[in-house]
Amino acid sequence: MRIIPLSIPIDEDYAPIHTYQVCRVMEQNQNNWLHTNWILTEGAQRVFIELKFTLRDCNSLPGGVGTCKETFNMAMKESRYIKIDTIAADESFTELDLGDRVMKLNTEVRDLGPLTHKGFYLAFQDLGACIALVSVRVFYKRCPFLVKSLAEFQDTIPGSEASQLVEVVGRCVNNSLPLYEPPRMHCSTEGEWLVPIGKCVCQTGFEEINGSCQVCKVGFYRSLLESLACSKCPPHSMARQAGSTACSCEDGYYKIDSDPPNMACTRPPSAPRNAISNVNETSVFLEWSVPMETGGRKDVRYNILCRRVLPDGRGLEECGPNVRFLPRRVGLTNTSVMVADLQSHTNYSFLLEAVNGVSELAKDHAKQYVSLNVTTNQAAPSPVSVVRKGLTGKSSIALSWAEPDRPNGIILEYEIKYFEKEQDSSYTIIKSKETEMEVEGLKPSSVYIFQVRARTSAGYGAFSRRFEFQTSPYCEYTRQRYCTLTVMRSCAPPFRRCGYSKAKQDPEEEKMHFHNGHIKFPGVRTYIDPLTYEDPNQAVHEFAQEIDVSFISIERIIGAGEFGEVCSGPLRLPGKREIQVAIKTLKAGYTEQQRRDFLWEASIMGQFNHPNIIRLEGVVTKSKPVMIITEYMENGSLDTFLKKNDAQFTVIQLVGMLRGIASGMRYLSDMGYVHRDLAARNILVNSNLVCKVSDFGLSRVLEDDPEAAYTTRGGKIPIRWTAPEAIAYRKFTSASDVWSYGIVMWEVMSYGERPYWEMSNQDVIKAVEESYRLPGPMDCPEALYHLMMDCWQRERSNRPKFDEIVCLLDKLIRNPRTHLLINQCHI
Ligand code: AMP
Repeated sequence: MRIIPLSIPIDEDYAPIHTYQVCRVMEQNQNNWLHTNWILTEGAQRVFIELKFTLRDCNSLPGGVGTCKETFNMAMKESRYIKIDTIAADESFTELDLGDRVMKLNTEVRDLGPLTHKGFYLAFQDLGACIALVSVRVFYKRCPFLVKSLAEFQDTIPGSEASQLVEVVGRCVNNSLPLYEPPRMHCSTEGEWLVPIGKCVCQTGFEEINGSCQVCKVGFYRSLLESLACSKCPPHSMARQAGSTACSCEDGYYKIDSDPPNMACTRPPSAPRNAISNVNETSVFLEWSVPMETGGRKDVRYNILCRRVLPDGRGLEECGPNVRFLPRRVGLTNTSVMVADLQSHTNYSFLLEAVNGVSELAKDHAKQYVSLNVTTNQAAPSPVSVVRKGLTGKSSIALSWAEPDRPNGIILEYEIKYFEKEQDSSYTIIKSKETEMEVEGLKPSSVYIFQVRARTSAGYGAFSRRFEFQTSPYCEYTRQRYCTLTVMRSCAPPFRRCGYSKAKQDPEEEKMHFHNGHIKFPGVRTYIDPLTYEDPNQAVHEFAQEIDVSFISIERIIGAGEFGEVCSGPLRLPGKREIQVAIKTLKAGYTEQQRRDFLWEASIMGQFNHPNIIRLEGVVTKSKPVMIITEYMENGSLDTFLKKNDAQFTVIQLVGMLRGIASGMRYLSDMGYVHRDLAARNILVNSNLVCKVSDFGLSRVLEDDPEAAYTTRGGKIPIRWTAPEAIAYRKFTSASDVWSYGIVMWEVMSYGERPYWEMSNQDVIKAVEESYRLPGPMDCPEALYHLMMDCWQRERSNRPKFDEIVCLLDKLIRNPRTHLLINQCHI
């Protein structure tokens, strides 16, 4: 290697510039090298090299260009020389410039990495140019020490790749801690801090002032990491020490755990005021005004203590369980109560007490009551002494009883109260003017408790003692009957077959159901309409588990719902085995109403637990997008599945699917839930061919269904699947669901054929009205077609119940040879 001796040129200011020069442009085969000393990297994996140089324009050389070059090479060496780049000048100088003594200085920057050694050499190779190398600056970039959001990030050397980010976890400054997750920043190769994640906040008892955490002063507190500054203690509380995380209550004042930290300490209320009573036969209406002093709380409630004055002033005894308080005895929110079923001509003493959230804590606080003395009049009838059981079915028991020994007047009616044994939190009351009654809608093979009482103009007598009676098992109480077909066009003659018991009790019969103190309406047993919740979010969280989105992976899109994509993927709940789930999402930009409608389905689905009802795993509402997570059904919706597998299943397999759907529907109707949109498209099928009922959501359901059409009355109804009375006057009941079930049977047996084919909705309504019914699908066993036809009885009480359908299908499955022989009955 030859180092070329340098002359010392001068810059514009006549200051000498030290340069390395070479200019052997007229000589052949130049290979001149200049190399640096060993340059330490100091740990940097990527360095920058800035060159300043001048270069002579070859064209401007006297005597032609010869072998003149206008570039040079730059190389580096860790273990051996590697070329970095060929460097050309942006500006080259000429003789003229030399004359003018103008320096045409070029600046070029190259970066170099990844470097793996502790240092390297740089070298410059000249192959015949006229160059003066003025300066070589070698440097690397660092992300400097930084304090951001109370977190310190250490001085950091960037990564070796050009667009690499180095993640750095910050350290929270004194008296601070990470909020939710450790603070992180990312150091870029340009030495800039990017993408901050998380932050530190001052620990409770401290507040942030000028980038550090300062202790809260006496009389101030900070209890929540999310709050910014220390707050003054609320009324009737104090913080005696600096750095307090909470304030303590003054003597005589209290706080309960659910009180927010900024709420004042409170005390129990004073007694209710201005109590008055109003006696009506053996009932008393008590009314009072709110206490003078509520103790500073809004949760004032009232309790009533009822005591009967014993004859001859022998003292007082508690009223006992036969006296009824409406709406209840304790925890009253209104300032009145109705006390019923008291004894006639009897003195009572009532104590009225006001309590609030801190009454339990204020043990030293003397209770303050207001008392009222009351005398009832007129005598109610004496209790019914014996209740007898008559004809018993699987869902009904006939009862009879004798008039009470002492009616004390004309008996206006009897009240029959009953409930399933050991389920006494929920009971039903029905009324009868006679001394007998058939109680219907009971569960098979179940023991029920019955009590009867009489009412005269003096009010109700006491209930009789409890009588225990049991219903018959499933399938036993099915009467054989001949089917009179109301079909216009059918090849099936009247036939003898497994029949169903006809409902005797009018479903509209006046019937009140009580469940844990709430009055429920006819037919409803366990299903709770989410509409009964003032706040729909409360209903969602009562019936659906909140799932953290980090437990779900979204892998595939499997369908399109009304509110957004339906996806699938694994759900990994801690401590539980991984399962595949369907994930319904609510698309961005929704309104509050759409969010409510979307989650409505979850509030309904979450109440069900049955192998033939789609299972809700939970909801994601705390992060976006909002999601409903259900079990995954590999074969999707039943109509599409059947169309795809035309004629692929045995009759037993099809009946098995129908049995599953009927069993799910039996469960829903037992719960008092009317589906309204039962159709094969709303049934999902899993990999074991198990069918499950899906698509819930009362009002939404029909808006959502593409089959739903507007009726003359304005409602949207899936005409082909809906019973005539539901189309005509919106009479949706479990019996109208049975009609739809008949249509589903037809869809299944015809492998997803469209009911009534291409007939218009109007023609379908007219034809059904004129007693036209769908003909039996090809290869449909007669027994199944007869069942369909019964589901389509005009008179809804003549249609079978879902438990009877399950029972019949079970019989068919048990004896396929007898019942499922194919007898073509299509026209
Ligand atoms: P939906 O909004 O409930 O009508 O769902 C739209 C579509 O997504 C359905 O027709 C199915 O194809 C699919 N889908 C919905 N829920 C599930 C599930 N649990 N398993 C498999 N596919 C589903």
